Amino acid sequence: MAAITIDHLHKRYGDTVAVDDVSFAVECGEIFGVLGPNGAGKTTTVECVEGLRQPDRGTVRVLGLDPHRHRDELRQRVGVQLQDSELPDKLTVAEAMDLYRSFYRAPADTTTLLERLGLMDSRRTRYKKLSGGQKQRLSIALALIGQPEVAVLDELSTGLDPTARRESWAIVEDLRDQGITVLLVTHFMEEAERLCDRVALIDAGRVVAVGNPASLTEQLGGGQRIRFRASAPFADRLLLDLPDVDQVTRRGDLVTATGTGDVAAHVTGALAAVGVVPHQLQVDRTSLEDVFVTLTGRPHRATCSQGANTSESHP
Ligand code: ADP
Repeated sequence: MAAITIDHLHKRYGDTVAVDDVSFAVECGEIFGVLGPNGAGKTTTVECVEGLRQPDRGTVRVLGLDPHRHRDELRQRVGVQLQDSELPDKLTVAEAMDLYRSFYRAPADTTTLLERLGLMDSRRTRYKKLSGGQKQRLSIALALIGQPEVAVLDELSTGLDPTARRESWAIVEDLRDQGITVLLVTHFMEEAERLCDRVALIDAGRVVAVGNPASLTEQLGGGQRIRFRASAPFADRLLLDLPDVDQVTRRGDLVTATGTGDVAAHVTGALAAVGVVPHQLQVDRTSLEDVFVTLTGRPHRATCSQGANTSESHP
């Protein structure tokens, strides 16, 4: 049985269609990413999974139950990460844990959970004194205190610095190792690529692709992307005629060529043959970002580095 199934979900707010037609299934024990730009309908979809919103059309089942009708039962079995500032500033970590323990039939052991999330030393620290990374870890601890079968994590690493982000990723992988199904909402392509077993790419309320990040990028050719600024003009045809190159795009004087095989070697060779020097040369593997651009015709444009800020403050 799938942990979560969403079948032709449709949800509007007045005239705004937030979710047009979304279907996907999350298998038990996987990390599943709901991925897309801001406004794509991710949060609304997940709020229907959490039973906070009722679909206008379509069905949602979580552990075989209707999240709206069986909200009390599912609250015990599905852990939802709190958004920032949903806790009172003066509450300490230990007090927050005690409060949340009282909501559950079979709560986890607080010490074990705090140790696992690296919060033992901060257990007497008030919420407002926690760093961004510590707040995030506390929100995960509170989502896990009921020993859920499914954890829903929304914009896990937004606002975290690179170290805290990597820590939060390790925690999510740890959840999967314990057999917990994770539904991860994110607009960071790299986060999804790094963490998720499978993703649903959502754009304008519709699923544009579902699958394993590696196989989605492989469908694009699974290969390389080379970017450079050319020292002299040349025709796209020069590169498109190479057997390994599938696509050439330009933004200003920045040229991007993607394809399979050893794109970098062939492109640099072809450029050298006509006397063009590729400056600021960069070679990457094709990414989910490329999949999104190919499927929607638009850049997605959210990278982890854009989401990071330096607002970490320490107690
Ligand atoms: P995402 O999580 O991908 O950013 P959302 O589900 O939050 O997307 O939003 C999808 C669309 O629905 C957006 O156009 C957003 O402005 C709109 N929307 C979201 N929540 C509400 C609401 N409570 N009332 C009206 N419009 C909303």
